[in-house]
Amino acid sequence: MKKVVIVLSFILSIVLLIPQDINATTLQEYEDQLEKYKNELNDKNNQIAASKKELEEVQQKLADYEKQIKDTEEAIKKIEEEIKKNNEEIENKKKESKKLMEYYQISNGENVYLEYAFGATDITDMIYRLSIVEQLTDYNDKVMKELKELVRQNQEKQKELENKKVELNKLTEEMREQSKKIKGNISSMEGTVPNIKGQLSYYQERVSYYKSIGCKSSDTIGIDCDKPKRVSRGGGGGGGGGGYLIGANGFASPLNSYNYISTGFYWNGYSGHKGLDFAEGCGTPVRAVATGRVYYVGSNKDIYGAKMVMIVHNYNGRLVFSQYAHLSGYAVSTNQDVYVGQVIGYVGSTGWSTGCHLHLEMSNDVGWDYNRPGNYYTYINYITNPYNYIPG
Ligand SMILES: [Zn+2]
Repeated sequence: MKKVVIVLSFILSIVLLIPQDINATTLQEYEDQLEKYKNELNDKNNQIAASKKELEEVQQKLADYEKQIKDTEEAIKKIEEEIKKNNEEIENKKKESKKLMEYYQISNGENVYLEYAFGATDITDMIYRLSIVEQLTDYNDKVMKELKELVRQNQEKQKELENKKVELNKLTEEMREQSKKIKGNISSMEGTVPNIKGQLSYYQERVSYYKSIGCKSSDTIGIDCDKPKRVSRGGGGGGGGGGYLIGANGFASPLNSYNYISTGFYWNGYSGHKGLDFAEGCGTPVRAVATGRVYYVGSNKDIYGAKMVMIVHNYNGRLVFSQYAHLSGYAVSTNQDVYVGQVIGYVGSTGWSTGCHLHLEMSNDVGWDYNRPGNYYTYINYITNPYNYIPG
């Protein structure tokens, strides 16, 4: 019976030892991401440049139409003046003809003023003069007819120009709309650039860091290179006093002691409480649950501004992550190696918290922003109950 137990536990330990690193990331993946964001930034910049060129063309067209409108307005004014001049000319000719007709009527009526009116010396002279009157009125009629025709043509031209102006105004309005739309596109594209640049610099920084410490493209980060210190049986030194226990797996409680668990762990992958809340006085030292490397210290990751420390541990060839939230202060900095039990910060109530407590959160394989940068919703699928590691 004892043998069976030994064999079973041997099999079980083998199962546990198989690295479940399907989610671990190679340097090559970081390099691919870097390339992807480089291309994305390049594409975005090209699109912005193309839109700016398009905008320039639209604005050139707009200026063109505005000039055409001005020219058309001037042409209309000129035609109006011409029409006015022609109409005045017609009036003059009318008056002239009327006067001539009056003379003509006077002559027909054998009026006593005939001689005076025409200044004719004899009847021959008078007839001659009358024929001139007739010719003159005929001539005036002809001139008036021509002028009227001119007025008609000009009015037609004026109408055409007015139509053209309406058309140009419509085109101008269209160009204005188009330019507004392009400007909107440009600013929304420019709005995405900082995010792309942020991702790009993250990967640039990671890739150059991993290369600087000699990682190869095929290396799995955290396992083949950039290994956090291994958690080993018995752990490192430096644990706290009074009842501080390091488990056989190398994990320990984050606090020497605490009042009570104010909120337990209940998590189904998308809702609940992702960790353990230890109610304890503000200022109490918080300790690393295992030996590892600090990869985040700060308050800008949590939307409520909780002060946090995040540590990556190497446990039997796989990555395990621990996160300490609501701290009042820090005792470590990013990229620092820490041993189990080392003070990393102090209990506080920063962020979304109603009293002094420590929120301890742990995950397997994927850390918050560790090897799935920016993807919080991927990370929360890897949450695990801290009691799977730390002593209860
Ligand atoms: Zn909590």
